[in-house]
Amino acid sequence: MPNNHNGLYWIRRDLRVDDNPALTSAIERGVSKAIFIAPLKTWEQHHKAPIQIDFIARHLQWLKQQLANRGITLDIVEVDDFDAQKQYLTDYCLAQNIQHLYANSEPELDECQRDSSIASQHLTLHLFEADVIMPKGGILNKQGEMFKVFTPFKRAWLQEFRQRYFECLPPPAATKTTQLTESITFSTTQRSSIKWPLADDYLQQVLPQFITAKLSHYQQQRDFPGVHGTSGISPYLAIGAISPRRVLSNLLSHYPQLAEWDSSPLFSWLNELIWREFYKHLLFHFPNLSKHQDFQPKFKDFYWPGSAENFSLWCQGKTGYPIVDAAMRQLNQTGWMHNRLRMIVGSFLTKHLLVDWRKGEAYFMQQLIDGDFSANNGGWQWAAGTGCDAQPYFRIFNPVTQSKRFDADGIFIKKYLPELNDVPNKYIHSPHEYLKKQALEKIYWPPIVDLAAGRARALVHFKQQLS
Ligand SMILES: Cc1cc2nc3c(=O)[nH]c(=O)nc-3n(C[C@H](O)[C@H](O)[C@H](O)COP(=O)(O)OP(=O)(O)OC[C@H]3O[C@@H](n4cnc5c(N)ncnc54)[C@H](O)[C@@H]3O)c2cc1C
Repeated sequence: MPNNHNGLYWIRRDLRVDDNPALTSAIERGVSKAIFIAPLKTWEQHHKAPIQIDFIARHLQWLKQQLANRGITLDIVEVDDFDAQKQYLTDYCLAQNIQHLYANSEPELDECQRDSSIASQHLTLHLFEADVIMPKGGILNKQGEMFKVFTPFKRAWLQEFRQRYFECLPPPAATKTTQLTESITFSTTQRSSIKWPLADDYLQQVLPQFITAKLSHYQQQRDFPGVHGTSGISPYLAIGAISPRRVLSNLLSHYPQLAEWDSSPLFSWLNELIWREFYKHLLFHFPNLSKHQDFQPKFKDFYWPGSAENFSLWCQGKTGYPIVDAAMRQLNQTGWMHNRLRMIVGSFLTKHLLVDWRKGEAYFMQQLIDGDFSANNGGWQWAAGTGCDAQPYFRIFNPVTQSKRFDADGIFIKKYLPELNDVPNKYIHSPHEYLKKQALEKIYWPPIVDLAAGRARALVHFKQQLS
């Protein structure tokens, strides 16, 4: 029987009814109110992309309906920042005589600090963990510390996973069917996310198709941006519209022994989901990552001499390197970028152009529909060589070699750089000589850096700065 105490379900990055411990717990206690408080200025300070905000709004609209079907009224309000959010929430709770808040935790520092200050004010905040498969803080080395490289973390994660009970909560039962027509938007810059289906449709159609038809090719295809070989699940995980535990549960229903098959090609996708876990756990153990500090302390006073002009050309996709430019145009046009390309453009910006990784990190967040602090910060620090990586800084991707290897026929390049459509495949990765011979050099940008010279400059610079 519900306790019927006066409580409120506070929605943050958990825009779902399925496997939602805060919601389930609130419903068990008879809670009938939910709230979403959008802190618009904080979102801007955190570089939240307009396309992600639109994706959130669409999922809130869906969620409002789902909650109404379960007897819960959802209020959606806009405020300025986290302080205003806190104030609004405390005033709201006071006015409605609410003493108990139910929410799923968020791992970043500002969010944790906000939550601790709310919990201290006449309100009990019941926090649950819904953003990871294995609880943060539970995967440690023999010294009881967090792993600083991925592979041993993965081994320990798998070992723990095999020993633990894996719980995935079903959606609370609907008690009625309502038809809400209200459309939700936020008063921020608008960018439509409509090309991405809602999470419910993704879970019903796209994910089963991916698991049954594409998973077996994933390992071979995942690095080729011209092939539709990855799952496209990142936007849903980033806003909490899909639970990572549900993803794993669906995967295990097809391959119950998957966690035992870590040397099989079928394991590769789970391997990537464990990378996601790795960065979330890392942020939990090293909260200063939220302050954009270099993970490796030796980079503390590192000087990044890259120019603002080169950074701007990189953002616009005008570097003169087709794979880099096509990747940046994919990001700018669609709000998403293929993982291989994120690594290539990240290496190019931080090594060949010697631009501070924090600038790339912020630019990605401003554009990405799947912008997620932990994965983005982890990916950028990996690319820059300042982060958690078994490789030292002198891994420098050559964009032309990468392009020849992962987009051999230039299919991806030509999709985003149609001006190069007539360039024969053998010249597509580095077209300038060819264009010059055809007197077409004006159709494409000159290279902003010589690759060999840029690489040599980076090696000298890193060595000098770190000695
Ligand atoms: C510089 C850089 C920045 C990145 N920024 C983000 C970001 O803001 N948000 C984000 O979700 N991912 C980020 N990634 C990781 C990765 O590029 C994306 O998760 C992936 O491209 C999403 O596409 P997908 O869902 O089709 O991936 P799939 O290949 O289908 O993988 C499934 C899931 O595994 C996880 N995953 C895959 N690769 C990684 C990885 N390298 N690190 C952490 N998790 C991973 C993601 O949750 C992904 O959705 C970044 C990587 C780099 C190198």
